[in-house]
Amino acid sequence: MNNLRKIDSIIPPPPAHMVGDGFRVHGFFPGQLSNKKRMSPFFIMDYGSKIEFTPSSEPRGVGVHPHAGFETVTIAYHGRVAHHDSAGNRGVIKEGDVQWMTAGSGLLHKEYHEKEFSKTGGLFQMVQLWVNLPARFKKTTPKYQGITREMMGKFLLPDKKSIIEIIAGEYNGVKGPAFTFSPVHLYNARLAKDASVEFDLPEKYNTGFLVIEGNVKVNSENVPTDHFVLFKNEGEKIILEASEDAVVLVLSGEPIEEPLAAYGPFVMNKWEEIEQAIHDVNTGKFGVLED
Ligand code: MN
Repeated sequence: MNNLRKIDSIIPPPPAHMVGDGFRVHGFFPGQLSNKKRMSPFFIMDYGSKIEFTPSSEPRGVGVHPHAGFETVTIAYHGRVAHHDSAGNRGVIKEGDVQWMTAGSGLLHKEYHEKEFSKTGGLFQMVQLWVNLPARFKKTTPKYQGITREMMGKFLLPDKKSIIEIIAGEYNGVKGPAFTFSPVHLYNARLAKDASVEFDLPEKYNTGFLVIEGNVKVNSENVPTDHFVLFKNEGEKIILEASEDAVVLVLSGEPIEEPLAAYGPFVMNKWEEIEQAIHDVNTGKFGVLED
C-alpha cells in the first residue's frame, strides 16, 4: 500500500509572453520554482494555453536559433507545428502529436505554424518541455523523433472512454515509444467526466501535472484548467478525478544530480561549456539553416 503523494503547490499560469510571433506561452518553470533543478530532468515548461490565431499568409513562429545539451519536446493539443533543423530533420506535428528533438551536441532549428494551419488560422494550444541530458550524453548526435498520437502506448480505463496515452516511460506495463536518455514518464491522461485514475510514480522522481483541459481533482484538491500541480518527493500514489471531460499532462522523471549551467538556448554542466557552445555557433559548427 503506497502513501498518497503530497502536493507542494498548485501554480496558476504566470503572465504569458510571446516567443517569436507564433507562440504565446506561460513560463511555468524554472521561473515559478524555488530552484532550477526542482523539476529535473525537466528544465523548462512553456505552456501555450488556448489562443485563436487569425489567418496569415506568412507562417507565424520563431526564426532560426541554436540549441545544445538537452532535448526539446513539443506537444500540440490544438493547431499544427512545423520544424526543420540543420541536422536535416523536419516534421509537422498535428493535434495530439509530439515532436521530440534531441539537440545534443548542437543544431540550429526553426519552429513555426504549419503552412495550411497558418492560412486558415484557428485554435492553438501546445506545450514545450526542455528535457535535460545527463553529462555523458550532452554531446550526442542530434536526432528527431516524430511521435504521432497513434504511436503512443494506450491504456484504456474501465469506463472504456478514458485513456492514458503513454508518450515516454511506462504506465501499468504499457510502454511509450519515445527514446529517452534518462528515466522519464510522460503521459496524456484523457479522462471523461467522472472518470478517476491512479498513478504510482517513484517518490524520488520529480513529478508535476499540467491541466490542459477541464477541471480536475488531484488527491482531492481542486485544480482548475491551465494550472500546474507540483508534487513533493513524498509518497507515490496520486489519484486524479475528472470533474468534467479533462486532459492532463503527467510528467515525472528521475532527477539528474549533476551541476547545471544554463544560458539562453544552452543547458550544460559548466560555464566553460556555455562559452564553448556560443563560440561553436559563431564559428558555424552547428551547421547552417536558411531562414
Ligand atoms: Mn527551439
